[in-house]
Amino acid sequence: MNNRVHQGHFARKRFGQNFLNDTYIIDSIVAAIHPQPGEAMVEIGPGLGALTEPVGERLDALTVIELDRDLAARLQTHPFLGPKLTIYQQDAMTFDFSRLAAEKGQPLRVFGNLPYNISTPLMFHLFSYTDAIKDMHFMLQKEVVNRLVAGPNSKAYGRLSVMAQYYCQVIPVLEVPPESFTPAPKVDSAVVRLVPHATQPNPVADVRALSRITMEAFGKRRKTLRNSLGHLFSAEVMESLGVDGSLRAENVTVAQYCQLANWLTAHPETQES
Ligand code: SAM
Repeated sequence: MNNRVHQGHFARKRFGQNFLNDTYIIDSIVAAIHPQPGEAMVEIGPGLGALTEPVGERLDALTVIELDRDLAARLQTHPFLGPKLTIYQQDAMTFDFSRLAAEKGQPLRVFGNLPYNISTPLMFHLFSYTDAIKDMHFMLQKEVVNRLVAGPNSKAYGRLSVMAQYYCQVIPVLEVPPESFTPAPKVDSAVVRLVPHATQPNPVADVRALSRITMEAFGKRRKTLRNSLGHLFSAEVMESLGVDGSLRAENVTVAQYCQLANWLTAHPETQES
């Protein structure tokens, strides 16, 4: 059989389609998600239903967002899932998660084996809705999970680590080898749990400032902060915020980035320079 055909469907590379085929892994993911009746569960990219079926068995209703029209149509006519599903045949990158949470009257529990080609921008899209989200469970490239959980002073620590950890508590759940998918991806995978902070440990007045600073600092990650952020913060300001200008982007904690962001927001005049 063609190794791109799974359950009669030809996997579309452009939609990042790698379908889970491993019952043990599927059961482990569903156990980690722990869906409960009455919860507002939302799956991104249900595909052929590998996760949708076992999650749907435990619920009366489930929302799914699937870009592939053929797969959305298949789910609509699925014998036991079909009637329980609300299917949005659209791009998850443009989906309004706040509106759905308001309709459901509760924060959402989002999960999915994400298309790897868009997983990072999709997570940034979701971060902008963390007020409307209770938790998220995602299958990602293992390398991306490593970056999400990385702390300072490590190679994997970057903008994604800082932004993810600003919004969420990040917990690695399990590793998944390529053979657990059809077709097998070229990389190892892992499942991660992201839980938006109920109480923000590092409140930031304007997240755009944090976004900008991390982009500029990690854009020049080999340079010292004095060089990469010197146009925004004088040596005195950095010192007063307890940030050593001779450090590099990867040596700065999330809390320090948030402090820098708040100073910048409080001093808009420095942003022109
Ligand atoms: N959940 C299935 C599984 O685990 O076997 C399929 C996972 S597959 C890695 C990713 C799924 O996301 C595919 O069904 C694909 O069609 C869908 N997809 C790709 N891009 C999408 C997008 N922008 N919005 C929503 N779904 C998307």
